Amino acid sequence: MRVPGTFFLSRRLAEGLEEGALTQLANVATLPGILRCSLGMPDIHWGYGFPIGGVAAFDEEEGVISPGGVGFDINCGVRMITTPLTVTDIPDMKGLIEDLFATVPTGVGSKSPVRLSQNDLSNVLTDGAANAVELGYGMEGDVRRCEENGAMPGAELEFVSKKARARGIPQCGTLGSGNHFLEVQAIDEIPDPATAKTFGVAEGQICVMIHCGSRGLGHQVCTDHLKVLEEAVKKYGIDLPDRQLACAPLHSPEGEAYFGAMAASANYAWANRQIITHLVRELFVKRFGIAYEEMPLVYDVAHNVAKWEEHETADAAAGRRRVCVHRKGATRAFGPGRSEIVQEFRDAGQPVIIPGSMGTSSYLLAGTTTAMERTFGSTCHGAGRVQSRSSAKRSLTGAAVAEDLAKRGIIVRAPNAAAIAEEAPDVYKPSSEVVQVVHDAGISRIVARFRPLGVIKG
Ligand code: 5GP
Ligand code: MN
Ligand code: MN
Repeated sequence: MRVPGTFFLSRRLAEGLEEGALTQLANVATLPGILRCSLGMPDIHWGYGFPIGGVAAFDEEEGVISPGGVGFDINCGVRMITTPLTVTDIPDMKGLIEDLFATVPTGVGSKSPVRLSQNDLSNVLTDGAANAVELGYGMEGDVRRCEENGAMPGAELEFVSKKARARGIPQCGTLGSGNHFLEVQAIDEIPDPATAKTFGVAEGQICVMIHCGSRGLGHQVCTDHLKVLEEAVKKYGIDLPDRQLACAPLHSPEGEAYFGAMAASANYAWANRQIITHLVRELFVKRFGIAYEEMPLVYDVAHNVAKWEEHETADAAAGRRRVCVHRKGATRAFGPGRSEIVQEFRDAGQPVIIPGSMGTSSYLLAGTTTAMERTFGSTCHGAGRVQSRSSAKRSLTGAAVAEDLAKRGIIVRAPNAAAIAEEAPDVYKPSSEVVQVVHDAGISRIVARFRPLGVIKG
C-alpha cells in the first residue's frame, strides 16, 4: 500500500463488514499516484475492483484513472424534486404509483418516449441536462441545480463506440432495472430547519426522488474501455493486485480516451434524469392541477464518476491543486464557499441526497468543510447493500415483501416480483445508522428526513 486506508463506520456497521470490501480498499491504496488515503464510506461493500462506497484521489502527473473506480453505471446518481402537495392531497397513492409506472419507462430493455437521432444523441453527450431542457424537457433553473451544471467538461465523442451509441439512442428517458427507482416521499423530520429553508424543503411536503444512470450506453463505454485499459496496464508496467483495477496514467492516450467517453456518458445520465423529471412533472400537473414550476429541482448528484477537482493535499505547501477524484458509490459533499456550488446554496454547503431503501428513510444532507479536509469533499451515497441479489431471491418472495410494505402504507410497483425481492429493505444496511456515521464524522450534516410512500423499481 502506498497510502493508508481510512474508513468511516459505527461499531455495528463494522461487524457486518465484508472482508472483501476491506481488501478492495487496501488494493486501491496500491495504485500509482494515489493521494493521502484510500477512503471507505459507511455504505462500503464489495464492488468491481474498487469497493462501492470508495473514494480515491490521484495526482495529475503520477496518478491513474480506472473504470473500476467509477463503476459500470457511469454517473448513476440521484435527484429530488419537491411539490406543493402534502400527504392528504394524495388520497389515491396506488393510482398515482400506477400512473407513474405507466408514464416512466421501467425495466430491462424499456424504450423512451423520446426519439433521438444520432445528431441529437451527440448533443446529449456534449451538453447533458442543458440539452434536455433545450428540447423542452425541463425549466429555467434545473441545470444550475445539478452537480457540474448537468454536463461535465471534457466529453470526447470519438471514444464512445457505435455499439454504445446504439444502446443509448432508445433509452434516454428510461429508469432502467434493478436498484434504480422513482419514489414518492414525505418529509417527516427536519433536524436543520435553517438549511432546509435554504434548500426549499419543508416538513410534510411531498417530494419525488429519482435514481438512475447512463443505462446501456454507460455500461458499454465501461466494457469497451476496460478492454483497452487491461492492455494499458501491461504497456505502462503497472503492477496490480487485482485485474479489475485496470487503469492507465491520467495523461496517457488510453487514460484520456476513457475520461472523454466517461464524461460523455455522465452527460447522457444527466439528460436521462432530466427527461424523467419532465415526465413526472407533467403527470403531477395533469393529476393534481399544480403548476410545472411548483416542482423545482432541489439538487442532482452523481455517485459514480471521476472528476478533475481542486483540493488541498497532504503537502499543503502546494496549496490547492488539480487532482482526479474517483467516487464509486460516493457523493460529492462540497462544503460552504466552494464556487462549484450554485450561488443560493453556496453558504450552506452542497445539497447531498442519500437514498435509504423502499422501506426505510432517505435523507437530504449538506456538505461540510470537514469533508473538504478529510474526504476530498465526499460522503456516502446510500445505505449500501448487505445481502446479494441471489441470496435475497432465495430467502424472500416479492409478494411477501410487497405485502409487508403495504401493511406499513408503502406501495411498491415493479415489472416483476423478483425485482421486489432483490430490493427488499433488509438487503440494505439501516440508512439511519449510515447517515448518522457521516453526520457524526462531520463529513456532511443531516438536513431533512424522507419517509417512503410509494416506489417504482426498475
Ligand atoms: P446503488 O447506486 O449503489 O445501487 O444504490 C444506491 C442506494 O440506493 C443503495 O445503497 C440504497 O441505500 C438505496 N436504495 C436502493 N433502492 C431504493 C429504493 O427503492 N428506495 C430508496 N429510497 N432507496 C433505495
Ligand atoms: Mn446505477
Ligand atoms: Mn446508483
